[in-house]
Amino acid sequence: MTDLTTTLPAVPVPALVPGSSVRPRPTGPRGPADAVWSARARPDAADGEVTVAGLRLSDLAERFGTPLYVLDEGEFRDRCRAYRRALPQAHVAYAGKAFLSRAVAAWVREEGLHLDVCSLGELEVAAAAGFPAERMILHGNAKTPDELRAALRFGVGRIVLDNVAEVARLAALVPAHDRQAVLIRVIPGVEAGAHKAIRTGTADQKFGLSIEHGAAEDAIARVLDQPRLELVGLHCHLGSQITSVRPFLAALPRMAALAARVRDRHGVVLPELDLGGGHGIAYRSGEHALDPAEFADDVMRHLVRAYAAVGLPGPQLIVEPGRALIGPAGVAVYRVLVVKRTGDRTFVAVDGGMNDNPRPALYGARPELRLIGRAGARTTRTVTVVGRFCEAGDILAPDVELPDDVRPGDLLAAPAAGAYQMAMASTYNMVGRPPVVAVRDGRARVIVRRETTADLLARDVPLGD
Ligand SMILES: *Cc1c(COP(=O)(O)O)cnc(C)c1O
Repeated sequence: MTDLTTTLPAVPVPALVPGSSVRPRPTGPRGPADAVWSARARPDAADGEVTVAGLRLSDLAERFGTPLYVLDEGEFRDRCRAYRRALPQAHVAYAGKAFLSRAVAAWVREEGLHLDVCSLGELEVAAAAGFPAERMILHGNAKTPDELRAALRFGVGRIVLDNVAEVARLAALVPAHDRQAVLIRVIPGVEAGAHKAIRTGTADQKFGLSIEHGAAEDAIARVLDQPRLELVGLHCHLGSQITSVRPFLAALPRMAALAARVRDRHGVVLPELDLGGGHGIAYRSGEHALDPAEFADDVMRHLVRAYAAVGLPGPQLIVEPGRALIGPAGVAVYRVLVVKRTGDRTFVAVDGGMNDNPRPALYGARPELRLIGRAGARTTRTVTVVGRFCEAGDILAPDVELPDDVRPGDLLAAPAAGAYQMAMASTYNMVGRPPVVAVRDGRARVIVRRETTADLLARDVPLGD
């Protein structure tokens, strides 16, 4: 089983900056950044109930049905604020692909963050929430012509170029006498991230332009040749679910060295550096998260030194956390439909599964599931919690300790469910996707309603008779 807390060692993490050091992780009591439940959740009541923002999850399950996604607005906003406090000089961009809706885009806008979008859909949802286009950053390894045109029409602040073809393609769409600010996504050659599918800092994956193989410098030269493009900086994104600051620090001298070559070759000083996202969270009790304050401290120190070492001023830093802002704000609630013994195993089947949370099947992720709504027997047994979809791989967690008397009708809840679950949800087996209910100060409101069969039929075109 993949250990999702492990950050693979970066390519031999080099002496970062002479004389500097990475502070060892504090041991002892876990900090708030490592919490699995949101700060407004009360997960330890004697009756087995969990409340979030003053609301009982079992009441929410009654009211809105299951499966259900509950999103703690206060937790999301607190996390936005923690990042802005930790990095007052940086731009913090929420990576909307982790989960986006108009309500979430409005919270991001109100909290003063920037927003990463990577499709026309994300761009339009954000725009529909009144999100200012100049605070948007458009990403994508294969942006469509429609997406590029829309980004220009809306006035998106930054477009991150990911390949050479895009340079001329974008330049041709920019109106005469206009200039579009762009960053170039490069591959710094630093390996980080919890699973192969989400490691993006090395040359054997599809994102970005390799520094090592010269592709980055070639693209930079082409961008500088385009009068309608304004190259404002470099971007890298090392991977996801990174729980140590070391890979980020390892990338800094490589980015600084590239910025110095751009200055030497073209006489251009690039004012911005976007270090991407990938800040890891704790999915299960005892796991560690990347602490934003610690990240900020170490990165700011090393950034200034790495750039000073090549005779450049410290650039404007941009960071793009997705999961770290929204993951811990979400809780998934399922109802148990079946408890079945097969051989030595006990399967507990719930009314959701790989459709609303494909992460276990994709990455071997293991959500922490617990019985809620009643105390349950004191004795426990190890069960396999499975979904209801027609794949043997639809396993939410293979080894969950649940009270011995777990039975149909019970509710199970999984914390840290806010990122890359509903955003990746599918309608496999023609089952509509669950609703997302935002909670705040004892009040609940639906921000994405449950998908019905009527929704599915609405895009199904019948044969004429
Ligand atoms: C996905 C992504 C992020 C956010 O990743 P998280 O793991 O959610 O922090 C940030 N930047 C880019 C370019 C991304 O593709």
